[in-house]
Amino acid sequence: MNAIIPENLKRLADFCPEPLYLVGGSVRDYLCGFPVGADADWDLCSPATEDEFLRAAERAGCTVRSVYRNTGTVKLTAPDGAGYEFTRFRSDKYVRGVHAPSEITFTSDMGVDARRRDFTCNAVYYDVARERFVDPLGGREDIANRKLRTVAPAKKVFGEDGLRLMRLCRFAAQLGFSPDEECLFGAKEHAALVQDVVPERVFTELTHVLLADGKHGLSDGPYRGLALLRETGVLPFVLPELALGQDMAQRSDFHAYDVLEHTFRCVRYAPREIRYAALLHDAGKPFCMKRDGNFHAHPAEGARIAREILSRLKAPNRLTEETEKLVLLHMVDFDCRMRESKVRLTIAENASLLPRLLALKQADFSACKDDLSPAPTVVKWKRILSEMRAENAPTTVAELDVNGAELIALGVLPRRTGEALHELLRFAALDGTRNRKHVLLARAKKFFTEVSS
Ligand code: ATP
Ligand code: MG
Repeated sequence: MNAIIPENLKRLADFCPEPLYLVGGSVRDYLCGFPVGADADWDLCSPATEDEFLRAAERAGCTVRSVYRNTGTVKLTAPDGAGYEFTRFRSDKYVRGVHAPSEITFTSDMGVDARRRDFTCNAVYYDVARERFVDPLGGREDIANRKLRTVAPAKKVFGEDGLRLMRLCRFAAQLGFSPDEECLFGAKEHAALVQDVVPERVFTELTHVLLADGKHGLSDGPYRGLALLRETGVLPFVLPELALGQDMAQRSDFHAYDVLEHTFRCVRYAPREIRYAALLHDAGKPFCMKRDGNFHAHPAEGARIAREILSRLKAPNRLTEETEKLVLLHMVDFDCRMRESKVRLTIAENASLLPRLLALKQADFSACKDDLSPAPTVVKWKRILSEMRAENAPTTVAELDVNGAELIALGVLPRRTGEALHELLRFAALDGTRNRKHVLLARAKKFFTEVSS
């Protein structure tokens, strides 16, 4: 491991009066055989006090970003810009599941420090100066066996901090590891404690699950993480609206799976940029089935529920808005019976979203029966889009052969140019021969100058 450790970190270890250890993700990922780059998350620990570590940091030319004396944490920036997070050896006491320990005791005993962590794979230490691994809890064997095992009885570990439930599913997703029986049992027993975790942290961990394949390239990571959220019973506390889809049957001529399994498979087949839309695309189905006895209104109800879920998780507004729109539109023309003129208008109304909408439609189609052939709607819409392009029909206002200034020169009131351009877009999207300046100006003159004068 010595070969991949940055020189600045080695210098820091040389100046530290006590052994300085790497622990957590960098050691685990290295032992898994995953590449660990200089930009890795370097988690450090030592029996050294914060002050001893701070002195070493100064001598090594690091900049101190923050010091938290209550948890023994110091955050540094190395001369090359890398971030290091140091935590003094300690043990933590918790009150029920609240994530932050209620009582912290510093220690010089590595075994004690290891047992305050979450999984054995995250409690393997690498002594930077002596260039050797120290493994108090047998984490290396668990890594070799791709096992998630808790550092202490699983009931205790999950009972202390509900965040560990989300971390369990995240590591299963990113690393391709499986929990051992005891770990799974303890997680199930304390599944409800995930409710004590602040929504922002739940969102972060859920995002790690949905994008898990990006971490080490394990293509089925997101599905694996979601399946574990379901298996542990954590899902009903995090996404109760989706959990209701478990065992909810669907029309067998279209679907091989229940609503929830179909949802997970949709995530599996979705490209990264639409994973939340894939996760939430059928969020309206359980609600509609309960209210109406059928799924008919599920896109609109699903869009509303998707917004509620993402707002509750304090997701960024842009993601929430885009996901809401995609969920609303995901069924449009699913049976390929929509008139082509209407498809053209829908394309023109949603041009910026179109690649993502088509990707969602494809993933949704594939997830019904694991059919990876092109979805008929996607084939149809792509053909219509290429016909529009060939005949120079606009899909956005910017592609119109007139602009706002020309409309104003024609006599359209400035405050009405947006509306006029939009109307011209709809007009010309239907027929590319209409996308000519004189045709568009004539139409604008007829409909927008008379009304406004
Ligand atoms: P990553 O590669 O994503 O950084 P990580 O395992 O290093 O994964 P961090 O959040 O950086 O995760 O935490 C560093 C280490 O601190 C963990 O490996 C684990 O030993 C310990 N740790 C972090 N969060 C918890 C927690 N909630 N409960 C117990 N131990 C934790
Ligand atoms: Mg880390």
